Amino acid sequence: MQNEEELFPEAAGEEAGSHRRRLTPEEADKLPYVHRLLLGHFGQPPRHEIFDPLTQFIYSLLASRTKTELTYAVVRNLRARFGAKDGWENLRDAPLKDIEDAIRDITFPEQKALHLKVSLEQITERYGSLTLDFLARYRTGKIRAWLEQFPGIGAQTSAAIVNFSTLRRKAIPVDAHHLRVSQRLGLTPRADAATTEERLMRLVPETWTAEMLDDHHQLVKKLGQTICTFDSPRCGQCPLLKICPYGQKHVGPATDGPSR
Ligand code: SF4
Repeated sequence: MQNEEELFPEAAGEEAGSHRRRLTPEEADKLPYVHRLLLGHFGQPPRHEIFDPLTQFIYSLLASRTKTELTYAVVRNLRARFGAKDGWENLRDAPLKDIEDAIRDITFPEQKALHLKVSLEQITERYGSLTLDFLARYRTGKIRAWLEQFPGIGAQTSAAIVNFSTLRRKAIPVDAHHLRVSQRLGLTPRADAATTEERLMRLVPETWTAEMLDDHHQLVKKLGQTICTFDSPRCGQCPLLKICPYGQKHVGPATDGPSR
């Protein structure tokens, strides 16, 4: 077991991004305007269950390329099967084959079962018990760097863990939908998820809470799933056409008034 200084050697340092360049008024309204248009089209996103950090870790590790409802169902099944009411120790100690069977319905069950078991064992080894509640004492950047040491946890997953869970930190889990929409809107140039998140976070108003970022991500994801799809975006029906260079190039300018 490591002590806390070893776990977070620079825990007293400044939060990354705390000194950022002041945005122009136009830059400052980019994300709020996208948010308002998406809210007007889709309405307020439904509230999801807020897990403790460890349960969210498990959920997020399982969630990639799997439908949200299915991932929730698999986590419920894991809870029932491995008696997770008092913690996830039974899941950690279960044979790999049993974990694979329990998550068989999601994508890449063999790989995810291995990542899950190894991660739960490593958390126990490093912290001395199987919990991530202690992360609440640390700064967001440090938490994310620590989480990203585990197999299968990249920038998108660490963002989901800190934003969606009871940690409720400011972060954007840039999945394939969020990445595609941001690039087509010209909000960020072509880049990986970590760089895209960093650039998007520069546009996030300081007044936005972690809950608002969660809503924003859900709205953008819904647009990517239903309208701004990978193969055939339906730009003519998109609430963002008036501010989207990609869409206007393909279908012409929007006809419902000025872009702002
Ligand atoms: S206008 Fe087209 S490309 Fe732009 S965000 Fe909407 S669907 Fe995507």
